[in-house]
Amino acid sequence: MTPTAPAVLPIPVSPELPETMTAAVLYGQEDVRIEQVPVPHANRGELIVKVAAALTCGTDLKVFRRGYHAKMIQPPALFGHELAGAVVELGEGITGFELGDRVVPINSAPCGRCYFCQRAQENLCENLLFNNGAYAEYIRIPAEIVTRNTLHVPAHVPLEYAALTEPLACALHGLEDSDPHPGDTVAVLGGGPLGLMILHIAVLSGCRVIAVVKHDAQAAVARALGAHDIVQTIQVDDVVQAVRALTPDQRGVDIAIEAVAIPETWEQAVDMVRNGGTVNFFGGPETGTKVQFDTNRLHYGDLTLKATFHHTPAICRRAFDLISSGKFQAQHFITGHSPLSELNQAFAQLLDRGTHNRIKTAILPE
Ligand SMILES: [Zn+2]
Ligand SMILES: [Zn+2]
Repeated sequence: MTPTAPAVLPIPVSPELPETMTAAVLYGQEDVRIEQVPVPHANRGELIVKVAAALTCGTDLKVFRRGYHAKMIQPPALFGHELAGAVVELGEGITGFELGDRVVPINSAPCGRCYFCQRAQENLCENLLFNNGAYAEYIRIPAEIVTRNTLHVPAHVPLEYAALTEPLACALHGLEDSDPHPGDTVAVLGGGPLGLMILHIAVLSGCRVIAVVKHDAQAAVARALGAHDIVQTIQVDDVVQAVRALTPDQRGVDIAIEAVAIPETWEQAVDMVRNGGTVNFFGGPETGTKVQFDTNRLHYGDLTLKATFHHTPAICRRAFDLISSGKFQAQHFITGHSPLSELNQAFAQLLDRGTHNRIKTAILPE
């Protein structure tokens, strides 16, 4: 896997925006069309951002295959949610942003008023506002996101790296929720973008990481990101046994983080953790799926089971700092660039994980 250099794009800021723009519109299952649509304008408190790069994401692939996402997007709708760019239009009453500012607007903002927001669980906000439309030349940023979740990107940080803030925030949330301590052995199940991010930041926090991945390409990236051991699921008969074998007395790992999102790996995560350990069900399986656990093991093994969904504004800032600091190896996560007109081909390559060694593709508006 060779990481590609970030695209350096000059972003002209013109006072006059064009009338129409190229954008990806989601119509349904595997039906995304590149169309000409009106350029949005900023209402009070809003920003218009010229997209420098939008990143493909596992959630977008899920949406592409299923045609919708209950919480995030209902077709027909502008599509894509991981982006960074430059401010090209300011709504009335905007403070703290100027034309030309390089920004990363996060894909959602909590309301700040509901039961969950009042308890610092803004990821569960009852009124979580999602913004889509990153696969386009311009995107409108709603006022709530402008005030709560839009960050300034320092000059030394490539915009496409800054666009990793949102998925990294999810990964960081998952890791922090699992309460890791330096020296802990952490198994991360899943070699998708999120699994690899969790793996990398667990290594950065001083944990010993066992990566449980399927494909050779994923194993290679896991190694480059600092995984101490790798279990390739297609090479072993019993994944749980293979992971336990890498721990003293086959005790099991201190923490297992599931980032595959299927019931089978949820069960494996529980089976590979040591007594007193923590399991985080980070991957969200399809509605209606069920798992089976040995209740005796859960109880007498004194296991802590948790799940982590989404992120909060505070976690987004910590994720952003990790990227800006250069500690987080952003270049490993963007494995290709595609023009917006080839978005469908980029998705097809990402879905074919066995053949194409892609993690995330940066989609660049022409
Ligand atoms: Zn995403
Ligand atoms: Zn709320």
